[in-house]
Amino acid sequence: MPKLRDAEQRTYVCPTCQQRHTKTRKDVSQGTLGRMFSGVLPAFIVCGRCLERRTPQRRNRAPLMWGTDVPPQDRRREVWGRYGGKELPLKPIPFQLIRDVTFGKCRRFVYCLLTDGEVYDDPGMILQLAEEAVEEVKTVKGKCNAIAVHFYRDVADAQRGECYAVVDYAPEGRWEDADTVDAGRYNRHQFNVVSHPRKKRRG
Ligand SMILES: [Zn+2]
Repeated sequence: MPKLRDAEQRTYVCPTCQQRHTKTRKDVSQGTLGRMFSGVLPAFIVCGRCLERRTPQRRNRAPLMWGTDVPPQDRRREVWGRYGGKELPLKPIPFQLIRDVTFGKCRRFVYCLLTDGEVYDDPGMILQLAEEAVEEVKTVKGKCNAIAVHFYRDVADAQRGECYAVVDYAPEGRWEDADTVDAGRYNRHQFNVVSHPRKKRRG
């Protein structure tokens, strides 16, 4: 595997919209990025601007912004893994049942649901558990704009961010539309099973 230079900063360019981002080690030492990268800059990041412009027909085509110092022959996602830093150590994070991912005035929460293997491949059960989790978040946190329920097999998976199913509760089921409603107004909200496994990963 090619070795990623341990840079202090790295510049990324989107091949689609051409925007440039320069990130420093400090940028990837905190928050969600810190959990993913532990302060080491990944080989690529996903273009957030293009991601937001996705349509339902092109949901999975957010372009990768490669670091300008990553040689062209190494610019393949399978080389660097899902988050662009395959060989990087993953720092465990303290487990939180409800994570606050509020953005500005948009009150968003992620419920981390730990379940054993029983519901891995049962979308009906996944949905039911998600509905209960959402009610709990509303009770504990008050008015919300959007709530996501992430399913983990155990705490270790939760600390690594490796969920096996995701259900969003948001306007028309679209997490990215969370800020188009007032917090606590749920008349447009729908549950959306964003991902669930087709088969068990274990057992
Ligand atoms: Zn872009």
